[in-house]
Formats: sequence, C-alpha cells, structure tokens
Amino acid sequence: MTVDSGAAGSAGASTKSAIPRNPGRLDLGMRATLVFPNREIVERYYVPLIYTACRTCYSELAPDDIFERAVDGRITPEKQRELIGRVIESGHGSTIEHVVFTFAITGVSRTLSHQLVRHRAGVAFDQQSQRYVSYKKGASTMLPATIADADPNLRRDYEEQVEGALELYSEMVEAGIPGEDARFVFPNATRTNLVMTANLRALIHMSGLRLCTMAQWEIRRLFQLIRHEVFAVSPFLGSFLAPKCVPLGYCDEAGNRDEHCPIRPHKDKVLAAWAEKAGRTGKGREGPLEP
Ligand SMILES: Cc1cc2nc3c(=O)[nH]c(=O)nc-3n(C[C@H](O)[C@H](O)[C@H](O)COP(=O)(O)OP(=O)(O)OC[C@H]3O[C@@H](n4cnc5c(N)ncnc54)[C@H](O)[C@@H]3O)c2cc1C
Repeated sequence: MTVDSGAAGSAGASTKSAIPRNPGRLDLGMRATLVFPNREIVERYYVPLIYTACRTCYSELAPDDIFERAVDGRITPEKQRELIGRVIESGHGSTIEHVVFTFAITGVSRTLSHQLVRHRAGVAFDQQSQRYVSYKKGASTMLPATIADADPNLRRDYEEQVEGALELYSEMVEAGIPGEDARFVFPNATRTNLVMTANLRALIHMSGLRLCTMAQWEIRRLFQLIRHEVFAVSPFLGSFLAPKCVPLGYCDEAGNRDEHCPIRPHKDKVLAAWAEKAGRTGKGREGPLEP
C-alpha cells in the first residue's frame, strides 16, 4: 500500500525563460540533520584545526603548537577566520579536508539518492537497503508538485501506477518472493534514508553544483537544508556553501547562456567583455580562445 505523504512538491517545470521556483518554499517531507559535529566542537576545534592546516604552511612553529595557541585563544577567532577565508578563496583545498560533517538524510527519493551518490571524492554514504528492509508498513513515495498540480486525471493515473507497484511488491513478498527481487517493481519515487559524511572541501564542491538553479529541484532542496544545518553550527563555514557561480564570479553552465538565472553573468559575456577590452587597449591576446 502506498504511503504517500502528500506533502511533496517540486520547483516546477524549468523553462529557459525562468528560474525554477525555489523548492525551499515547499515542504517535501525530507530532512537533513547534522548529527556531527555540534556548534561547540566546530567553534572549539574545527576552526582551530583548519587554521592550523593553513598556518603550518607559513610558520616555523610546529603544528601542535599552532593548534594549542588557536584552541586557547592566543590566536583570536577573528584572526583564524581571516586566514581561513583567504586560503579557501585562493582554492587551497587540502586545508579544509581535515574536518568532516555527518548528516542523517531521510525521506528523499531514490531519484535524489542516485544523483547524490555520484559524488566520489571526500564523501561516504550508507543507505537503507531494499534487500534487508521488507517495508512491512509499505514504502513511502515522493510526489512532485508538477504532478500534484497537473490535470486531476493525470495525477490519479500516476498515483494508481505508484500504488499499484507498491501493492504488487507486498503481494510478491507475501508469496515468498525475496525482497531483493520484489523491489525491482519499486518506482524512482520511493523514499530512502542515508547517512552522509563529507569533508568540508567535498561539501563546498557538492553544494556548488547542487545549490545551482540548474540542479534538479529535490537535490537542490536537500542542499538548502544541509546549508541551513552547517550555518546553525557555524555561520562562517556555512557561508562557503553557495552555488558555484558565487565564488567563481560567473556562470559556466551551458544551459544558462540566455542568462535566465541572473545570479552571475554568463562566462561567454565575461569573456566577450574581456576580449573587447583587450582589443581596445592592445594589451593581452586578441581572443580568449587563442593559444
Ligand atoms: C546539473 C547537473 C546535471 C547532471 N546531469 C547528469 C547526467 O545527465 N548524466 C550523468 O551521468 N550525470 C549527471 N550529473 C552528475 C555529474 O556528471 C557528476 O557525476 C556529479 O555531479 C559528481 O560531480 P563530480 O564528479 O565533480 O564530484 P565528485 O565525484 O564529488 O568529485 C569532486 C571532484 O574531485 C575530482 N575527481 C573526483 N574523481 C576524480 C577522478 N576519478 N579523476 C580525476 N578527478 C576526480 C574532480 O575535480 C571532481 O570535480 C549532473 C550533475 C549536475 C550538477
């Protein structure tokens, strides 16, 4: 039997002329909870740890001395944040691989989890198994808002298909078909739970891609929740979780050449302006793509 939360939604159809609606305004019935670290650990140890990694490169002091000074306040938190900010902006990413964030992610669809686990570097996942969990109470599913708001007949057909699939799953399990085989009938809409641990560098990279308005609405919403959680323990570190165009200063998405997303100018426009200026002043190369 389908357990449809009825609370799902989507950012709506994305057209070239409009930014998809912000999925953050809808309750999708999913959660992302930062289970480790808490605020005290981040403030007391994470920031000093990152500072130590950064400062070691430029100091005669031993790393453990630097860490001690950072933890006991001889190096002020402001000074630590100032150096860390400069190093992150310069792209010296190994310094922020020393700290990790662990999230409990619940109620996301398999459509989302398939995208999420494509991230490989600096991130670990453990996901609810459809082999070992037999969904005796019925599997939950996600209903996109475009379908919820569609022609009622279309929505009904969709819901019947999904419910039918889940009913068939239960029938098969009752008839002795192993769960690992019965699950073949599950739709992409089926909800799942994961634990995700990412180091800060990976988290910034993933957020850059998934907070972008070109990302799919559900995973974009997940990263809005993740950003919110990191912000709650550290507004400083949370501020680095942003669409990739924010630190880049331009948009590099081919699908946004028409600049329907206005957060940053498209790369083509920036390069054209640069080529024009270089041509006028006679400085630099004539065209940005010439060797
Ligand atoms: C808007 C959007 C649309 C997408 N559409 C599709 C699609 O249609 N089809 C599809 O299959 N996927 C799609 N993807 C997934 C995408 O191709 C990547 O697999 C996914 O975003 C993971 O990104 P990543 O490889 O940068 O990240 P990670 O795996 O987290 O890696 C982080 C970074 O580490 C480096 N790195 C990691 N592994 C290696 C390696 N083996 N060699 C060298 N460097 C490495 C790279 O610099 C990489 O950027 C889409 C992603 C987005 C954001």
